[in-house]
Amino acid sequence: SSSKHDKDKGVNVQVILRCRPLSADEMRIHTPVVISCNENRREVCAVQNIANKQIDRTFLFDKVFGSSSQQKELFELAVSPIVNEVLEGYNCTIFAYGQTGTGKTYTMEGGARKKNGEFPSDAGVIPRAVKQIFEILEAQNAEYSMKVTFLELYNEEITDLLAPEETTKFIDDKSKKPIALMEDGKGGVFVRGLEEELVTTANEIYKILEKGSAKRRTAETLLNKQSSRSHSIFSITIHIKECTPEGEEVIKCGKLNLVDLAGSENISRSGAREGRAREAGEINKSLLTLGRVINALVEHSGHVPYRDSKLTRLLRDSLGGKTKTCIIATISPSIHCLEETLSTLDYAHRAK
Ligand code: ADP
Ligand code: MG
Repeated sequence: SSSKHDKDKGVNVQVILRCRPLSADEMRIHTPVVISCNENRREVCAVQNIANKQIDRTFLFDKVFGSSSQQKELFELAVSPIVNEVLEGYNCTIFAYGQTGTGKTYTMEGGARKKNGEFPSDAGVIPRAVKQIFEILEAQNAEYSMKVTFLELYNEEITDLLAPEETTKFIDDKSKKPIALMEDGKGGVFVRGLEEELVTTANEIYKILEKGSAKRRTAETLLNKQSSRSHSIFSITIHIKECTPEGEEVIKCGKLNLVDLAGSENISRSGAREGRAREAGEINKSLLTLGRVINALVEHSGHVPYRDSKLTRLLRDSLGGKTKTCIIATISPSIHCLEETLSTLDYAHRAK
């Protein structure tokens, strides 16, 4: 079990596997399914039997969610306990990792909010986490302050998704000072010029999220970017005022990072021809380094290469040490994705 895993290794990395259903189009053309999930045994099997190509592999994860799993179920079983840890003062990170089109954004953001403000049943991890945080704080009648940041990392460059309109219009204007990742001299990092929005209600955060996501889509078309190559990081920082039994006032601080990673095909496809891909700038340095950092943490191999990419530098205070990490690996059940699916299963399995 994952709790045994925690105690054995002293590392809090949980790996969850989610397989999306076939799309309506895939169903219509009778796309063969090569993945089966056994949720009780926490196993995923990839099976293909074509004349001279036999594949039969089984992978074990901390939790497995099959094609019919609902957003609510995944949140309650996998994410909700982590949100509680954030309110206990932990820094936690939830990653969505997988091939483009397998449900990373669906899992993290989910369906659009309904007009009448009703909470949609296909809401993803982010809105559900926000809802839970406010429900708990309100039930505790806690005194707190909360701020959010939302940024995008593309080609090792940071874009602030919460920056006011004027600045994003000139996002590619060379004369503008770019947003920069700086060392704070105490071993930490901060992003110079990054907007931090103070929030007091869940609705404010939903609006910020919508605004940020819309900006991401606009910047994409404007700059001819590919969303499959960018990472987005939505972070919520909470300070809670508490009284010790001795009547002393203390501030507890927790942080939740919700990360929608670049498509995993950005490393696996180029992996075989790393040399040439690097020249072409095709390798996603942050995605590659994240894998190495998590491996180093899980295997307790002394050196953790945080400094090798912007993503891992940004998340350094939330990876390793007194933190919790959850990787949600997403896959497609289709025969046409099998090669990428096997890479995702291998990558995610190594992180365990
Ligand atoms: P990614 O962000 O990994 O590229 P998306 O989240 O955009 O993938 O998902 C691709 C498509 O599949 C979307 O239309 C999405 O709504 C659908 N989808 C993904 N996962 C699921 C799921 N678990 N249940 C239903 N539809 C899903
Ligand atoms: Mg996406």
